Amino acid sequence: PAATPLLFDVTRYDLDLRFDFERQRVAGVVTVSARVLEDGLRELDLDADAGLRIGAVWLERDGSFPEDPPRALGFHHAEDRLTVLLDRHYGIGETLRVAIAYAGRASRLGDGVTWATLGESTPSATTMAEPFGARVWVPCHDRPDDKALWTLRVTAPAELEVGSNGVRVDRRDNPDGTATTMWASRYPIATYLVVIDISDYRVAEDLYRGLDGTAAMPVQTWAYPWNETRARTMFASTSSLLGLLAAHFGEYPFLDEKYGNCLAPIGASGMEHQTLTSVAGGDGPGDNGVLDWRSVRYLDVHEAAHQWWGDWVSPASWKDLWLNESFASYAELLLAEADGRLQSYMAFDDWRGWFRGPLYDNPEPFSATIYSKGARVLRMLERLMGRERLERALGRWRERFGGGSATTADLEEVLEATWGSDLSWFFEQWVYGTGRPHLRWSWKRAVGPAVRLELEQVQTNAGLFRFPLDVEVRTAAGRELHSVEVEAVRSRTFEIPVDGEPEEVRLDPDHWLLAEQHPASAPDLDFGPAFDGEIVFPPVVTGGAATVRVPVTNLGGSVLEILGSDSTEEGTFGVDLGPDGLALDPGASGELAFRFTPSEVGVAHGWIELDTNDPAGGGVAWVELRGAGVTSEGVAVRATGRVRWTEPVAVGSAAERLITITNAGTEPARVTARIEGAGFSLPGATSMDVAPGEAAPVLVRFAPPGEGSFEGRLHLEPAGGAPVTVALLGYGAAAPRLAVEPGVVLFGIVAPGEERRRVVRVTNRGQAPMTVSAVSVEGHFSVAAPRLPRTLGA
Ligand SMILES: [Zn+2]
Repeated sequence: PAATPLLFDVTRYDLDLRFDFERQRVAGVVTVSARVLEDGLRELDLDADAGLRIGAVWLERDGSFPEDPPRALGFHHAEDRLTVLLDRHYGIGETLRVAIAYAGRASRLGDGVTWATLGESTPSATTMAEPFGARVWVPCHDRPDDKALWTLRVTAPAELEVGSNGVRVDRRDNPDGTATTMWASRYPIATYLVVIDISDYRVAEDLYRGLDGTAAMPVQTWAYPWNETRARTMFASTSSLLGLLAAHFGEYPFLDEKYGNCLAPIGASGMEHQTLTSVAGGDGPGDNGVLDWRSVRYLDVHEAAHQWWGDWVSPASWKDLWLNESFASYAELLLAEADGRLQSYMAFDDWRGWFRGPLYDNPEPFSATIYSKGARVLRMLERLMGRERLERALGRWRERFGGGSATTADLEEVLEATWGSDLSWFFEQWVYGTGRPHLRWSWKRAVGPAVRLELEQVQTNAGLFRFPLDVEVRTAAGRELHSVEVEAVRSRTFEIPVDGEPEEVRLDPDHWLLAEQHPASAPDLDFGPAFDGEIVFPPVVTGGAATVRVPVTNLGGSVLEILGSDSTEEGTFGVDLGPDGLALDPGASGELAFRFTPSEVGVAHGWIELDTNDPAGGGVAWVELRGAGVTSEGVAVRATGRVRWTEPVAVGSAAERLITITNAGTEPARVTARIEGAGFSLPGATSMDVAPGEAAPVLVRFAPPGEGSFEGRLHLEPAGGAPVTVALLGYGAAAPRLAVEPGVVLFGIVAPGEERRRVVRVTNRGQAPMTVSAVSVEGHFSVAAPRLPRTLGA
């Protein structure tokens, strides 16, 4: 199941980007080099967020036609799509280089650039992009199956450090108080793994010595002045963790470059940017993010493992996300094993894990299923194939797909080739399938001596599973470990010959199998086939109530009692057990009535703990509940009545505000946003679907057309509901504005040794005087500027 076919393959990006911290804007040029994969290509479709302003696009010839001057190209930019109109039809195999000049705040809802001030005064700008956010800060071909080489030239205030992917090849100071840092990568990078981190960083360096002991690769920790020492201590074991991973997965894939952890004000705890992981660094002295944890060892190994799985072998599409997260979580299990605490690590995971839905194309992509179930599925594969063979297969996997992208089907093929046998049944039940086995079992002594094991698969929310099962038998003489092959049948009896008289039997003592198990004599609570651990209520008008009834069955061998319950959202979510609780005989069914009584508008989420005498989970069954509180029937959209830009905005610049709209009705609302008033615009989406009780942001930009106050109106029009108007008020302040014409200077063909001059006119289009203090050029060009600084009147 491939994504839309690639019409072209981007081979490299050369980015030259300036970060203006005062105005919180980036401006620069990205040059995209591509190879054409489809005959007759006439347009280049790239991804570029609507919030970016595209200034110009031009065609750069490749080295074979150096005499051709660059040529300006037409383009369309709407929503998040940038369509570049090429100068002619291009055939398969042809290459082209397109340069795009752009600018903007490059920020949207946690994606793109996060502009921040840490503590009192430390500036910070940092990018985040997984899964679709790269386009928010740089126009690109934003899909994980089109990886490319990157060079990043970043200009920022000279007192700050710039971290990025690959190797730092240059840093030079500019006359205007900025410095330009250049990073380059020798290995292709997926767009979502490209990063720029800028702040007052202190970089500590350690060494990783490769598997053969000879390489000496830097392992860096990027921290702030106030937590430099702590960061160094917390990440002291990073290079030994790389060694552990290399021993299992093969050599670190980017050995010619580096690995690093860089503190950044990100929402997630970690993000595996290629060769420079971002870790949550808090918002200043007093909040050190993950450094305030007791240990970052398992976060560290998880993110480092992504360098192999996710970064070196990338997912072909986001449906294959488990290829990243399950493998990185499996690495946590390998570390827990090395630390001698595998069983307790898995026990925690088992308790937390809800194992809901498939690994492939999970509707909740960053859910516990992808992480916890995925790691355990890989461990089951290890049990099935043997560790040595699994690691050999992973070696082939990285050899074949390293530097590129792969699908779930590709993984299955590599595993089958190494194991020499079909694995489609394994992928069907564990990767594409949902649920897990629920085993009811008992044993008896048999002549021989032998153990007679009766095994039944009683799960109601999944099909039947096939798996190898370890059986531990304790005898007077000690412990015997046996193994049986369980087929996908409802029930099976095994006769296992043993050496001594059996005293006790345990199934799967090392927890290889992702199963719930119940001795047949115990009570066993089952919620039926429709229940996947979560109850979703319909929208409820505040003050009202909704009830969802869930059937429960006792699949066990003795009376099941549900003794009591506890709700994390007392008053909002509850369950009716009656005064004496609920008691069910073996095989009997009953019903639990879950209640939702919202007191306020908005999305509610909680858990109910049921206390039972079912031994699974220590007698506790968790039920997750979700609902939305609303105020009226039908469609009802709400927003604040008035929004003011509190700071004056300089003429010639723009400032954006997010306005939150809430759907307080019982029906989903499709809302169209329309804006009125000079200076106000909607740079982002103008139409959105808002579920009952949920909120959605609308991005509004104010770019004052002159000095003074400006008023506007944001009209929110829900289909089938009453429109809502938000009054907008902004103040434009005088500002200088630099205009340069032409934007692209074309020199044409110039013979070697000759010189050609072009005049570039600099105008102040603003409303306040402007001072030009420096002019510089790069490459085979020079500039003759008038005496500087020079002030241009308004
Ligand atoms: Zn991860």
